[in-house]
Amino acid sequence: MKTMKAVYLHGPGDLRLHEDPVPAIAAPDDVLIEVKAVGVCGSDCHYYQRGRIGPFVVTEPLILGHECSGVVAAVGEEVAGLRPGDQVAVEPGVPCRRCRRCREGRYNICENEVTFMGTPPWHGAFREYLTWPADFVFKLPEGVSLEDGAMVEPLAVGVHACRRGGVQPGQSAAVIGAGPIGLLAAQAAAAYGAHPVIVSDIIAPRLERARKLGALAVDAQREDAAERVRDFTDGKGADVVIETAGTLATIRQAAQMVRTGGVVVLVGLPPEDEGPMPVMDQIAREYDIRTVFRYANCYPPALSLIAAGRIDLASLRTHEFPLAQTEEAVKQVIEHKAETVKALVRT
Ligand SMILES: [Zn+2]
Ligand SMILES: [Zn+2]
Repeated sequence: MKTMKAVYLHGPGDLRLHEDPVPAIAAPDDVLIEVKAVGVCGSDCHYYQRGRIGPFVVTEPLILGHECSGVVAAVGEEVAGLRPGDQVAVEPGVPCRRCRRCREGRYNICENEVTFMGTPPWHGAFREYLTWPADFVFKLPEGVSLEDGAMVEPLAVGVHACRRGGVQPGQSAAVIGAGPIGLLAAQAAAAYGAHPVIVSDIIAPRLERARKLGALAVDAQREDAAERVRDFTDGKGADVVIETAGTLATIRQAAQMVRTGGVVVLVGLPPEDEGPMPVMDQIAREYDIRTVFRYANCYPPALSLIAAGRIDLASLRTHEFPLAQTEEAVKQVIEHKAETVKALVRT
């Protein structure tokens, strides 16, 4: 039997390399993928540190990782449009495809159970091979590398945030947080036509990156970020504010940054479940608060934006590790926030 290496989380702080059989194609629409690159996500770090995220608890050894690209190794008999050798990006969440929300195209909020890579009980991508349904496997367009392919997932979040916010030419956008999602959302907002795009954070090297990507940077540690956003927008505030930092303070700040009648898009997950929002202010200024949970139908636009050269992914790939050093990759992201944007694991 052919075997492969896979990295399992056994409990908090305990990642181990296993030797597993290479999975077999089990369904006629399955694709066997040789994994090539996997991005380390904040959620992988969270599972590594705590062994759980909210209701999702790692009780059995689990393979983490959900931001992946690879090469098609084999296809099931009903797969059309993909062939062995194709380079692909893999969308990690597979919904039921039948409920009302799925049928509306909002399959990210599927009313039934969603299979999501690297979320208990479903294994993720820190391994050499995996099988996945063909309709959630996307061929990389010409000029899009396997490293880029591993970053389609976080870019899809940024694209979904722009769509939910209705970002369009003639509008200004403010993005709170210059981590991977914030920097990708800012670039997506610019690609969707927003100008200016303003990015706030409290970590100087991150702001420097935002500036290099063409955004106006606001150091929220030293200045009143909402006031600075108003300075950049004729005193009005941003048409769309995308919150990616995920703290109650920055969520409240988003409400202060948004223009009357604008949209606040909440992406970052706050550690606490409840927090006071300025309800009077929201009613009087009729701005919308919308939320983002993963994404739906965002891989195709994300891939075209990359193929068109509208998104700089290369400068966000700051670190690379082999599969056997997945733990180092995760620790890099946890321990060196300022200089790490995206760490990739290469198999
Ligand atoms: Zn992720
Ligand atoms: Zn569904």
